[in-house]
Amino acid sequence: MTTLTPTSTLPKIIAIVDCEDHGPCDPEPSAYCPHCGAGGRYIMRFICEDGKVHGAMKGCIQLYPRHRLTAQVEAVFAKQRQYQKNKWNLPSWDTNVINACHSLGAGQINCAEWENRVRAEFAKRDAYHNAKYGGRRFGRR
Ligand SMILES: [Zn+2]
Repeated sequence: MTTLTPTSTLPKIIAIVDCEDHGPCDPEPSAYCPHCGAGGRYIMRFICEDGKVHGAMKGCIQLYPRHRLTAQVEAVFAKQRQYQKNKWNLPSWDTNVINACHSLGAGQINCAEWENRVRAEFAKRDAYHNAKYGGRRFGRR
């Protein structure tokens, strides 16, 4: 099996917002990859640095390079899903990070402004954790 390497001509992924299940491909696929046109079942929707929401199948999404903040932003989206399930309130900085991603996807702000906003929220979160836990980060012992 070959490993897919990201293609530098594709826009960088900012955040994955959705995964659509279009059902089995048998006998005919009901959905097609917006990226390459192949029939598939799962289509991922993701916001890119160009401020557009792109779509690609699970395999093809590996071809898209990732913004250096994407892993941290993904963790916020995962936390939101968990908190929604438990009916807990997200801290304001997490909500602001998610809102910044949606503003980018809606074309209200550009990627530079998105990065400024996300970095500012992460800085608030880190300052809070430093004050509360004396510099120890969550999940590290
Ligand atoms: Zn594709």
